[in-house]
Amino acid sequence: MLLKKNIWSLFYLILAVSTLTLLSLFHSKYQTLEHAVFNELASVNRLISNSFHSSLVENELLLDILGNNLLENQTYLDQTKAQQLLKKMLYTKPELAGFGLVDPQGHFLSLSGSMDIDKLPNLLDMDASKESFERALQSERMVLGTTYFFPPLNAWVIPLRKALRDETGDVVAVMTTGIRIDDKNFLGKTDLGQNRGVQFVNAHSQSRIYISGIRPEQYAQYYSEGIAPDVIHDINSQLVQNYGLTVIEAQKQADQGPYFFEHYSNTFAHTALQSAVYDADYGIWAVVAESASRLNHTLIKTFVDYLLIFIVFNAIIFWLIKTIHHNESRTRQTLQFHANHDPLTGLYNRYHLQQIFKQRSLQKTQVCSVLFIDLDNFKNINDAFGHGIGDKILVQVSKRLQTFVSHSEQIFRFGGDEFVVILFDSDKDIPIAREIIQTLSQSYEVDGMNFNIGASIGIARSTQENFFIDTLLSQADMAMYEAKKRKNSVELFSDEIKQLSDRKVFIEHHLRRAMEHGEIYVVYQPQFNRQGTLYGVECLARWENPELGFVSPDEFIHIAEEIGIMPDLGQFITQTALREMAEVQLRSSHYFRVSVNVSVKQFLDPHFYQKFMTAIGDSGLQSSDVTLEVTESLFIEELDRVLPVLEQLHAQNVSIALDDFGTGYSSLCMLRKLPINELKIDRSFVEHMLQDLKDQGLVKSIIEIAQKVGMHTLAEGVEVQQQAELLAKFGCDVYQGYLYAKPLKLSEFETFLESHEAEKKKPLNANV
Ligand code: C2E
Ligand code: CA
Ligand code: CA
Repeated sequence: MLLKKNIWSLFYLILAVSTLTLLSLFHSKYQTLEHAVFNELASVNRLISNSFHSSLVENELLLDILGNNLLENQTYLDQTKAQQLLKKMLYTKPELAGFGLVDPQGHFLSLSGSMDIDKLPNLLDMDASKESFERALQSERMVLGTTYFFPPLNAWVIPLRKALRDETGDVVAVMTTGIRIDDKNFLGKTDLGQNRGVQFVNAHSQSRIYISGIRPEQYAQYYSEGIAPDVIHDINSQLVQNYGLTVIEAQKQADQGPYFFEHYSNTFAHTALQSAVYDADYGIWAVVAESASRLNHTLIKTFVDYLLIFIVFNAIIFWLIKTIHHNESRTRQTLQFHANHDPLTGLYNRYHLQQIFKQRSLQKTQVCSVLFIDLDNFKNINDAFGHGIGDKILVQVSKRLQTFVSHSEQIFRFGGDEFVVILFDSDKDIPIAREIIQTLSQSYEVDGMNFNIGASIGIARSTQENFFIDTLLSQADMAMYEAKKRKNSVELFSDEIKQLSDRKVFIEHHLRRAMEHGEIYVVYQPQFNRQGTLYGVECLARWENPELGFVSPDEFIHIAEEIGIMPDLGQFITQTALREMAEVQLRSSHYFRVSVNVSVKQFLDPHFYQKFMTAIGDSGLQSSDVTLEVTESLFIEELDRVLPVLEQLHAQNVSIALDDFGTGYSSLCMLRKLPINELKIDRSFVEHMLQDLKDQGLVKSIIEIAQKVGMHTLAEGVEVQQQAELLAKFGCDVYQGYLYAKPLKLSEFETFLESHEAEKKKPLNANV
């Protein structure tokens, strides 16, 4: 999520930076282009201003010469002569409209044209000429008037007037002429290039005196009206902004120009970039303008180019980021899948279970049942046939389990052969659990072989107060532990189970220290043969703890096996028993067999054989005096590993007794394969044989079979004389039970031996 955010932030950052770059590039391009346009305009502007200035200087000179010529010898009084002179001059200056000599009062004195002088207007009377005429009277230099239509010449002209003075400086007359506004003079011929125009503005009258590119019918509109005040205002403020100068100040610093500004141009019907140069001698602004459309086109083209690069660049970045993001989220999904799923079965895993409850604990309204499923006997298959087969079975188990849940969210592989199912219908949890056991108990076909396994299920139900998965799981696990004792069964967690479990934890805790605290000791239960003589003793472990009191071996042996201390505990018991019995035999001169119980976990210890033989050797007993009791489960679970050890022990003359015979799964065929010397008929058969004929028959058969395969038989739990007699009738060899003696502490056993010496047990009256 974080990465996702980061990677897209990166994109937005790139986008923002590239946008800024685009804008700033564009802006600088705009400035460069504008600068270039202004530079071009500036040089054109200077050129035009200069050439206009030169032509004005020329005209001023001409007016001076002509005027002085006319005044000289009062030639102007001779109309014809004067006219001839002026006409002659006019030929050389076609751009000029005509010459006139005017007295300081505004009356024409002579004229180049053939008009009647008296009918010509007084220049001081006409609005169009008055201002410039008066200004000419004041000025040493030639002045330019406002462009106007001069009817006698039928032409639009820029009036030029130059006052002629006598030696004292008084104005004698004013020489006047006009530049025609038409295409013939230099104004019209100047090639400015496309979309450009020029205008001359009279600074004194603030009016345009010439504008290029307008048609004659527009002259009246452009020349008769002065420049609108808002236009002047706008240009003024641009000059202030760009140069810190007002128009008047700019005029005073004419050599600082050209000055640039932008303004809407009627001729272009567009905003125009303008360059202005001021001719201080004649008070004329020469302005060159170029329509901004050219610049705009270039700018648009540039912008489009830049934008294209921008789009392509960002599209590539976008694609890259998207690809990275895509890959990233795919990787994330895969990781997430692996984090939440079991790779073998594809079911959700333990981690996901925790996650679900973390989310669900927020809404505890729904009550649920946690089913903790543990497969029975799976370990044996795994050990015997390898993990490949084991895995295939687990996959089949997971498929069968999946048929029980509506949402796959509710089934989890917890680890190994453990599965968890969450049901939201707590009323049906027990029947469903039974159904699950039934389904899982059906045989599995893998690689052409059939396998049978079972399942034990523990159930824990959530409550409003207890919705914590860890607690529920441990409760279900405790219940499962109880169910496991019976196998293929279901157990619902209860306070009783909790107590059992607590006790188990307590036992585990104390058991680890029991040996070093001297709490473990051995009791001995005598065994007799048919003649009533002492045959041997079975050594049985006892544990008395200050806090727990007496703990039955049925309980603690099992726990010792589970927590992995059985090899040590078993070795301790064996050593103690053999040593004590060897000592007793020495002291009492009674010789009897010594039978010790050995757990399957001891057999799995690779040094078991060595340790066992050492214990015998250390005790001083002969190995032929010792019997080793094993249970049938030993052969079912670990036959391959147990059998060689048994054979080794057998070879050393250690007798092997098969304990609890008849309760397990032993087959007759197996009996033949194993090096067994003695069958111990389980207590439960003996217990019921007097009432139950079936059991009686079984006991009889066991004894017969044993006789046939050359083993001798021992009956456990003989409590009453009738049992002993019946057993003797069937041919049982050895007897053990409360009828003779309970398991006795060492000292009790010694006392028992002494009394036994005195009063030997009567031989059984059996007719065998
Ligand atoms: P087991 O090997 O079948 O031992 C015989 C059990 O039957 C003993 O129980 C014994 O006290 C009891 N018993 C003997 N005669 C009678 C009788 O006439 N009536 C009744 N009701 N019971 C009788 P105990 O001592 O409680 O041992 C229980 C089990 O614990 C043993 O069953 C054995 O499986 C295990 N066990 C005891 N000591 C050891 C040991 O040192 N090593 C191992 N591996 N297992 C042991
Ligand atoms: Ca036993
Ligand atoms: Ca037994």
